[in-house]
Amino acid sequence: MNHNHSPIAEVYDLAVVGGGINGVGIAADAAGRGLSVFLCEKDDLAQHTSSASSKLIHGGLRYLEHREFRLVREALAEREVLLAKAPHIVKPLRFILPHRPHLRPAWMIRAGLFLYDHLGKRKRLPASRSLRFGAGSPLQAEITRGFEYSDCWVDDARLVVLNAMAARERGAHIHTRTRCVSARRSKGLWHIHLERADGSLLSIRARALVNAAGPWVARFIKQDLKQQAPYGIRLIQGSHIIVPRLHDGEQAYILQNEDRRIVFAIPYLERFSLIGTTDREYHGDPAAVAITPEETRYLLDVVNRHFKRQLSEQDILHSYAGVRPLCDDESADPSAVTRDYTLSLSAHPGAAPLLSVFGGKLTTYRKLAEAAMAQLTPWFPFAKGPWTATAPLPGGEQMDTRSALVEALCSSFGWLPTAIARRWANLYGSRSWHLLRGVRELADLGEHLGAGLYTREVDYLCQEEWAVSAEDILWRRTKLGLFMSAGQQARLVQYLKQEHPRRPRANAA
Ligand SMILES: Cc1cc2nc3c(=O)[nH]c(=O)nc-3n(C[C@H](O)[C@H](O)[C@H](O)COP(=O)(O)OP(=O)(O)OC[C@H]3O[C@@H](n4cnc5c(N)ncnc54)[C@H](O)[C@@H]3O)c2cc1C
Repeated sequence: MNHNHSPIAEVYDLAVVGGGINGVGIAADAAGRGLSVFLCEKDDLAQHTSSASSKLIHGGLRYLEHREFRLVREALAEREVLLAKAPHIVKPLRFILPHRPHLRPAWMIRAGLFLYDHLGKRKRLPASRSLRFGAGSPLQAEITRGFEYSDCWVDDARLVVLNAMAARERGAHIHTRTRCVSARRSKGLWHIHLERADGSLLSIRARALVNAAGPWVARFIKQDLKQQAPYGIRLIQGSHIIVPRLHDGEQAYILQNEDRRIVFAIPYLERFSLIGTTDREYHGDPAAVAITPEETRYLLDVVNRHFKRQLSEQDILHSYAGVRPLCDDESADPSAVTRDYTLSLSAHPGAAPLLSVFGGKLTTYRKLAEAAMAQLTPWFPFAKGPWTATAPLPGGEQMDTRSALVEALCSSFGWLPTAIARRWANLYGSRSWHLLRGVRELADLGEHLGAGLYTREVDYLCQEEWAVSAEDILWRRTKLGLFMSAGQQARLVQYLKQEHPRRPRANAA
């Protein structure tokens, strides 16, 4: 272990702890306003809550029942903002809500959908409507009526990586696999100590500190800063299962359960359906969360009560779980705890400020970042104004539609398999052209590791997107873990060991 700290700790305007959506969102926003920014993430970008979501950019129809009008209005408006910023990883999705009168009367759902259609700005997304299901419906015969409305789908882990790239392109230093072990205020600055995965140490100084540690937010304040946390945090576990595609068509289903909770069945990666989520209080280590047998049964039961096709545990191809770091509003019911965010600013005259993020949604990360910057600008009078509403995320530049991009890639590179062009358009958008720079034929993509993954793409992910391990590539940068055999995955591990051995990188990529 190397215990030497860097002799001179560099001074940044802003240090951000946490590389989930909230940390990278704030880092990107601050860097674009002209602040010098440092971000550390103890694991991989999006390794925790931000890759374990239902992957929806949604207003949250259910939150209307809890009268969360502010949150719903802001979230609804963000759908079209994010569609325009990242058309490669965000796409419109129609949701079908089967009507089950004993759970919620039709007038109540109609009123909710009316609000949903009109609370936020909506230009591209179509309005809601009532439906009657015919014999071809995948739902059980007794479900004859329902409703349809719009929200959006997002690749959650890629939303995080793209924001980190946007931050880096504006000068931010992003260090993954680097844990903040302590931070102390002294002479108007934060003195921040970091430990990399290989045990080496690093110190920096910063004029302001953002604690975006997600499920670790309160623990970071208590253990690493040795201060009192201003709010309690409720860790609410949510789990998902992935099964073979449940139904034809591109629509998702929002299923009402007898306990008044809802479960989504969402088309996923052409061949699969993503089913989730649950809500259960969690008290363990957030990094060790895993789906429980009760949650699995709960999800299968809800689906089996609605669909003609019946699922059993043998149909489950993959599952994942995460914990929502929610601000404790003392609700008795885990599914009723507010999904809104709270920012807590700790600042005393002459002392460097600390801003902590409690709660939040992927959907509202950009607005949360703007709110964070509004609180911090008194310390940075030179900072420019808000800019993120219209700026594309990396890969969203000069991109019309995904299908136009696939066509352009295939016509410029006649040898490129359409399946790869389609997959890249969904992951990298217009950055797919970077992957093809100087490439003349399929052989130039390097070794084929399986499921259309060539070593050229692996190199790109290590050089440009902070990928280090096979897991980073198989489950977060891409979802090829669902498609590659154990042997193919083992070859990827071996390739990474040979060609991209782990070493601390100053400003990775
Ligand atoms: C089951 C489930 C479904 C969801 N579905 C949706 C949805 O469909 N739509 C939606 O909008 N939202 C959804 N959410 C909410 C959304 O996923 C979260 O609000 C969001 O991901 C939280 O991001 P975060 O950055 O606060 O936390 P995280 O993503 O957990 O990031 C915090 C990061 O901080 C790092 N960290 C902690 N301590 C340190 C330290 N000392 N040093 C360095 N790094 C540190 C951690 O490693 C972690 O990566 C869902 C959440 C769950 C759990």
